[in-house]
Amino acid sequence: MKTPNPSIKENKIAEPGGSTNFIKHIIEEDLKAGKNNGKVLTRFPPEPNGYLHIGHAKSICLNFGLAAEYNGRCNLRYDDTDPSKESIEYVASIKEDVRWLGFDWQDREYYASDYFEQLFEYAVQLIKAGDAYVDSLSAAEIREYRGTLTRPGKNSPYRERSIAENLDLFERMRAGEFKDGEHVLRAKIDMASPNMIMRDPTLYRIRHVSHYRTGNMWCIYPMYDFTHCLSDSIEGITHSNCTLEFESNREIYDWVLDHLEVDCHPQQIEFARLNLSFTVLSKRKLIRLVEDGHVSGWDDPRLPTISGLRRRGYTPKAIRNFCDRIGVAKADSTVDMALLEYCVREDLNKCAPRVMGVLRPLKVVIDNYPENGEEALEAVNNPEDPSMGTRNVPFSRELYIEQDDFMKNPPKKFFRLAPGREVRLRYAYFITCVDVVKDPDSGEVIELHCTYDPATRGGDAPDGRKVKGTLHWVSAKHAIAAQVRLYDHLFVKENPNEVEADQDFTAYLNPTSIEILADCKLEPSLAAAKPADLYQFERLGYFCVDSKDARPDALVFNRTVTLRDTWAKILKAQKKKGT
Ligand code: ATP
Ligand code: MG
Repeated sequence: MKTPNPSIKENKIAEPGGSTNFIKHIIEEDLKAGKNNGKVLTRFPPEPNGYLHIGHAKSICLNFGLAAEYNGRCNLRYDDTDPSKESIEYVASIKEDVRWLGFDWQDREYYASDYFEQLFEYAVQLIKAGDAYVDSLSAAEIREYRGTLTRPGKNSPYRERSIAENLDLFERMRAGEFKDGEHVLRAKIDMASPNMIMRDPTLYRIRHVSHYRTGNMWCIYPMYDFTHCLSDSIEGITHSNCTLEFESNREIYDWVLDHLEVDCHPQQIEFARLNLSFTVLSKRKLIRLVEDGHVSGWDDPRLPTISGLRRRGYTPKAIRNFCDRIGVAKADSTVDMALLEYCVREDLNKCAPRVMGVLRPLKVVIDNYPENGEEALEAVNNPEDPSMGTRNVPFSRELYIEQDDFMKNPPKKFFRLAPGREVRLRYAYFITCVDVVKDPDSGEVIELHCTYDPATRGGDAPDGRKVKGTLHWVSAKHAIAAQVRLYDHLFVKENPNEVEADQDFTAYLNPTSIEILADCKLEPSLAAAKPADLYQFERLGYFCVDSKDARPDALVFNRTVTLRDTWAKILKAQKKKGT
């Protein structure tokens, strides 16, 4: 069976490996011109204030990918300058996720907090050059003095402090003599700059907060715009790739490096961040979902976090292929979730063994099969890959099939089981439904009686007679019980970031994003399934053993992704036509 290709409206599907991007062109020009001594050094700079998500995967694949392609290196650098939100738990999760995605920073694990002393020295240099000053306006006053897009700002009354006074105050800020917010260190640039960021940006602020790595060593912390360019420069980064929202920060990036004596002035290049439909890719929003209990944790399989996708059964290869296919562009866009799912199917189709499992069991008794008879039938593990071999599946008189594979009064085009109808049981026999048992109270169908044709063993009729439906099934007495969790989009709205007035993005959470089926029946070969193992349950999708909740005697599966369901498509088309 070919992997279905969902309709992907907005996304051209580039072949993985074949895509190119504008950053590669810049690097190739630089290499041709002999810039940076022919070196390429990139970095992935997460702030350890949350878990990584699929958007970060785009940045990871880009930065590590460029290093690999141009014989360069990529550093892992924690951009940890905001002690109130950062933690060692996040540091550990980030390492695990980058490694799991298949990238290696070797011994180049760096922390902006390791540069605090050096950064302080650089700040002193700026003060000595008359390029920075200590401001004592309050935060509200600073905001007011900054002006607006249409109105220039005005100079702080403290702007002309002497260098000596600035040095003294900055040292005393470091020594802990002042309270939070009493003073800040600002760059002295231009309060009338059309770029608001250049209106004397803050370089340091006082925060009496202990840092997860430096403890209480510091009570002043450097701001992003001061730290990032200098961390890049200290590490000898050549190409500093960041997302588009930093476009107007490039001016301050260059200003800082131009006003200090540094050996290396990296080039900041902005690219479009990844947006994905029906989900959110902002750490602030993901933290809300986790902390307010909308999901079970950072690794909830419905989240777009790397740990959530991993637990869901997404593979590193699928995610890397996805990042390759979406490419790297200059303009923001939203990628259809269906493309990510397509990449997952494409990978799993080749590597996941196929098995049979019934999610919503309906008992079937084969009336003409020997009472205590049983036999082993050979089943193919993956028709895409004959080297994956075959296995035996037990057959007996009582089986389970899927409830929705039977209809008492089938509409046209329903080719599965119905009274008097013959279908094939995959790898087994043709069966014909001869009787339907209903619950006398509810009227619900609770059991089917069928007959089988012994001549059709293996699934083919020697007389050449055809059936239209093939069903998966499990032998009742051999079945393993399992819980299966089905997932749907976390949000009902394609773009949950677009909120209506006085609404919150959580208003668009999908109330049925998870469905737990407690009484599923699986073929006995799955008794050996281990956490994170992946399978295709025939006709139902790809599933993986949950790595948190599954026990050897209590299997729990997550549905990773569905297969294309042609029946659902037909139903939809029929609904549209009103038939
Ligand atoms: P968020 O906006 O979700 O809080 P962030 O940019 O603050 O993310 P960082 O830890 O600073 O998170 O990100 C590390 C790197 O990953 C940065 O270079 C950032 O530009 C990049 N990145 C973050 N989100 C995306 C995204 N959606 N697509 C591509 N790259 C991203
Ligand atoms: Mg950031």
